[in-house]
Amino acid sequence: MNEKAIDFFVRQFGVEESFYTNKLGFMFRDDLNIICYGKVVKNSVHKRWMKYIKQTFGYKVKYPFAFYLLHEIGHKMTMEYMTHKLEYHYMIASPYINEPKKMCKYMYMKYMSLPPEFLATEWAVEYAKKHPRTMKFLEKCA
Ligand SMILES: [Zn+2]
Repeated sequence: MNEKAIDFFVRQFGVEESFYTNKLGFMFRDDLNIICYGKVVKNSVHKRWMKYIKQTFGYKVKYPFAFYLLHEIGHKMTMEYMTHKLEYHYMIASPYINEPKKMCKYMYMKYMSLPPEFLATEWAVEYAKKHPRTMKFLEKCA
């Protein structure tokens, strides 16, 4: 894991710091302005997300690690859309997001369709389309 290069990359978007920790997975903490990241686990949640992106945005993710990271940066870039009402939805959905067995397809689609999730993914798709070489570079950092 090239933590230095990843940190350098995320800071250009105004993120304060990034941390590698495989325990928490990928996460943007807006209260601390940090990004946590880990290794991409190719479980059923991953597969579902990739399918969702293909269906919703017509984009096939080629570099999963880079895309996960971009999605978190997307949260930072679309932060103004986060409201208290949405935080409530998160509170309900978040315990399930990394527990594929507990999360039904309906619940997952609902989670991914929450405006902050949708917008962060949309931002990541746009970035990935425009910067294929950066995506390839980031993938190599994983
Ligand atoms: Zn997200």
